Amino acid sequence: MEGAVAPMVTRNKGEAEPNRVSRLKVEKGDFISASSVANVVYCKRAGLLAAESKDVNRRDDMPVLDLLPVYELEEIRDAIAQRWRRLLCGLGALIVAATICSSLAAFDSFQHARSTALLLFIVMIALVPFLLSTTSSLNELIRRLRSADFGTRREPDPAATDTTPVFWWDLWKSGFVSQRCDRLADENWKLDGSPFRVLQRDSWAIPVFRTRSVHDYPKPQHLVRIMAYCHLVESQMGADVPYGIILYGDTMRGIAVPNHPRYRKPFHDALEELRRLVTIADGGGPPPYPPADINRCAGCPFGEPRLLSKGIPTLRNGKRLDPHVLKPMGGRTRYHCDCGDRFEWCPTHKLTDELRLQDVKGAG
Ligand code: SF4
Repeated sequence: MEGAVAPMVTRNKGEAEPNRVSRLKVEKGDFISASSVANVVYCKRAGLLAAESKDVNRRDDMPVLDLLPVYELEEIRDAIAQRWRRLLCGLGALIVAATICSSLAAFDSFQHARSTALLLFIVMIALVPFLLSTTSSLNELIRRLRSADFGTRREPDPAATDTTPVFWWDLWKSGFVSQRCDRLADENWKLDGSPFRVLQRDSWAIPVFRTRSVHDYPKPQHLVRIMAYCHLVESQMGADVPYGIILYGDTMRGIAVPNHPRYRKPFHDALEELRRLVTIADGGGPPPYPPADINRCAGCPFGEPRLLSKGIPTLRNGKRLDPHVLKPMGGRTRYHCDCGDRFEWCPTHKLTDELRLQDVKGAG
């Protein structure tokens, strides 16, 4: 499996599309992202906020904070070779600096000899953190390379109707090629999204996305999201998509979710529901209610309060919303959050509780 960054193959114009249902076809309207559709399953307000934010950074996959390659074997091997080169160069420079430094220090009679030795000593000290960080990333890369050895030639049954556990390197051993994916957009359904990776082999293309979740089970929003990617890959790449893959957190483990009507229906329902909410909101209708399980607000990024002084606005269809100001009881620092600004209330985020924030009217 190679890690080459390659443009995705797209369906030729005029080719028949494999959309199985037509109730989701829309003539006009903004694109809705796969992640927004997933959000609406968690909370209707979250879905609407995601759809209205039009924030490309928030629209889809989680940001990759790990700067070392993880999922492509060739990239890992290249990075190891690069780190070895860096390490050897660094060690060479260290040895040369140490040799010159000790030689110069021995000759008191030379003018500036001692100050040159001091300078080289500083260079040596500066090299140490570089060597340590290179060694540490080299160790990590070697660990990742070794984890690939645990892979065996095994893949999910394409006819399965239930989820199957998967290990990333098993798929690699089964001959899949991993590629990064540009935005895929279905004009008919006005749906777009960028899977984290697409695994390709022959006529198959398997979308992959990573969750932040460390739990070994998919949440309903994850299932909806992977079905949205299955639809995009199927309709835009013209590939056979027997299943999609959800990876858990920063692990190599995940599950294969069959591209089966049983899993597709919740995605279709969620897309329809989000479009309905967007239409109501655009027409000035009433906002959706918060979730019945108000605990969902506790960890929701849309409800997380931030300092007003940071100047990060909440955007609705590209326009700034007036902040709905929250203050601690008896305090003066002002906060706000996306959900509060959009729906003019104080969500029960855990940080809101910790800071004892209230609507500004109630805070006094
Ligand atoms: S803070 Fe609560 S109501 Fe607002 S989007 Fe999040 S879960 Fe929904």
